[in-house]
Amino acid sequence: MKVATEIRDDERALFQRELDAFVPSVVFDAHAHLYDQSQFTPDSFAWPQRDDIPARADLTEYRRLAGLMLPGRRLDGLFIPMALDGDPATVNGFIADQVRGEPRCRGAMVVRPDMDPDYVRQEAGRLRMAGLKCYHFLSKRSGPGASDPTWEREIPEYLPEPIVRVADELGLTITLHMVKLRALADAGNQQAIRHYAERYPNMRLILAHAARGFNPHHTIEGIAALAGLRNVWFDCSAVTDCGAIEAIVETFGHERLMYGSDFHVSHFRGRCVAIGESFLWLYEDSVDWSTAMQTDLQPILVGLESLRCLKLAARHTHLTDAQVEDVFYNNAARLFELT
Ligand SMILES: [Zn+2]
Repeated sequence: MKVATEIRDDERALFQRELDAFVPSVVFDAHAHLYDQSQFTPDSFAWPQRDDIPARADLTEYRRLAGLMLPGRRLDGLFIPMALDGDPATVNGFIADQVRGEPRCRGAMVVRPDMDPDYVRQEAGRLRMAGLKCYHFLSKRSGPGASDPTWEREIPEYLPEPIVRVADELGLTITLHMVKLRALADAGNQQAIRHYAERYPNMRLILAHAARGFNPHHTIEGIAALAGLRNVWFDCSAVTDCGAIEAIVETFGHERLMYGSDFHVSHFRGRCVAIGESFLWLYEDSVDWSTAMQTDLQPILVGLESLRCLKLAARHTHLTDAQVEDVFYNNAARLFELT
């Protein structure tokens, strides 16, 4: 799979037909990754992608590429390193450099589970970070490539409580892409989120990917367990089914939902489909698209598929235009105190 650096005519036409009237003129992208490939090492999980993605995706390149998908929109966001397993000082410093002088942009720094909380506190202050980003992969106990899958990790294994305490002290967001097979339908995930949210009320938790709702049934099943939490938000990045987004709006109200692209994932072509108790990403080169009998089938940008689902969810939950503007900008503006 390759990151699209140009948009096809059929994709442009689809945007105009289905999405142009839906997407507001100002957008805050609550989940977008920036990087420079010099941050990758042969051990890093991003390394195998290096030939398929631009050498550097800084804020300028993000705005150029995201602007192909969202033409004419003012684009700001919460930016997260892509090289999550790169040198923390380097990748976090890169994000800080990108958002400095951008009053409507914010940065999230990578935190590794073994980081000293004092270091996190100092770096967040020094780099003026608005948020933290944890990742299950960083809880790997042995060397990269070793057989230590992290997809079943409990949240405290990659987001230890002392780091949550720092977020609470500093009023930081934490972008959490939870794992385990059943995601939000998993009792361990529910308990950890509730515990952190209730014990650390000044920490603001952003449950990425509609609470990892790539299989919407998990978010639909589990979201009631989080009802009433006052410091939990959701981004809908890279979600290509509408059920999880609807469940969020129904349980938490549209004020807790934020648009996110998951750039650069938004610029792969394909989509995610729920299958059984899990999900599968279908990419340009992972499926034989010619087996579609009825037409010359071409996958489109993940980001466009995701926007279509957000639109459908907005329609099913009867959001007004003003509420859609909240999802795309105002909810984030309140959370991040944008001026
Ligand atoms: Zn992401």
